[in-house]
Amino acid sequence: MIDPILDVRGLTKSFGGLVASKNISLDLRPGEIHALIGPNGAGKSTLIKQIAGGLRPDEGSVFFDGQDVSPLSTASRARLGMGRTFQISSVAMEYTVLQNTVLGALGHRGNTFRFFNRVMKDTELLATAENALEQVGLQEFRTFRTSDLSHGQRRQLEVAVALTLEPKAFLMDEPMAGLGAEGSHRLIGFLDALRQKAPILLIEHDMDAVFTLADRISVLVYGEIIASGSVDEIRANPDVRSAYLGEESVE
Ligand code: ADP
Ligand code: MG
Repeated sequence: MIDPILDVRGLTKSFGGLVASKNISLDLRPGEIHALIGPNGAGKSTLIKQIAGGLRPDEGSVFFDGQDVSPLSTASRARLGMGRTFQISSVAMEYTVLQNTVLGALGHRGNTFRFFNRVMKDTELLATAENALEQVGLQEFRTFRTSDLSHGQRRQLEVAVALTLEPKAFLMDEPMAGLGAEGSHRLIGFLDALRQKAPILLIEHDMDAVFTLADRISVLVYGEIIASGSVDEIRANPDVRSAYLGEESVE
């Protein structure tokens, strides 16, 4: 069997009396999209934060590309190739598309503008940024202010920013959030192709997107994975239907 790129083992995290992650184990293999679904408050974002290094688990470990990254910071994990997009967009609206991507390539945020001007003349950084924009199809929007992009394009820009670090895998927290039907449709096509470059652990509420994209689905309810399997297995699972899919259908 091919080794997983990401291997999460027994993560447990409590906030006071609330157990937000209960002994969670899952993995991500090359070429796949592994979707993580579950109702609001199930602990999806909390899990992603622990994998990315922003939140320290009480127990358990995270292996990435064969290495135990549990003691490492978010920045170190990113440098090792853990790419990430956020539930709330992290790109700066006032900058241009290219500036945001260059900042991503630089791995820094919130520099002064004077410094920024110098950075924008760094040909190597620029080449990295332009290449990432081309990969997500935003090359022709490079001079646009980020605020002038559609929601969907901003999501693609976030992926471009992440691509500048040459990720070996992506963690994505609700990338479809706020997108209309057309934006979702486009992003689905984009993520579908992206999995070949880097597999994706995908948190998503949009069940059409999940059922279209996922190679595997894990279902998180009250901090626990109650089921994990193929799209067909998850669709047919009675526990999942009552705990989650049933709830979705009455929304
Ligand atoms: P999801 O992303 O699945 O909607 P979250 O991971 O955001 O869920 O939250 C899981 C649970 O943990 C929720 O009950 C939430 O209120 C709680 N929680 C998340 N972060 C914190 C925190 N920093 N302090 C206390 N409780 C938290
Ligand atoms: Mg969340």
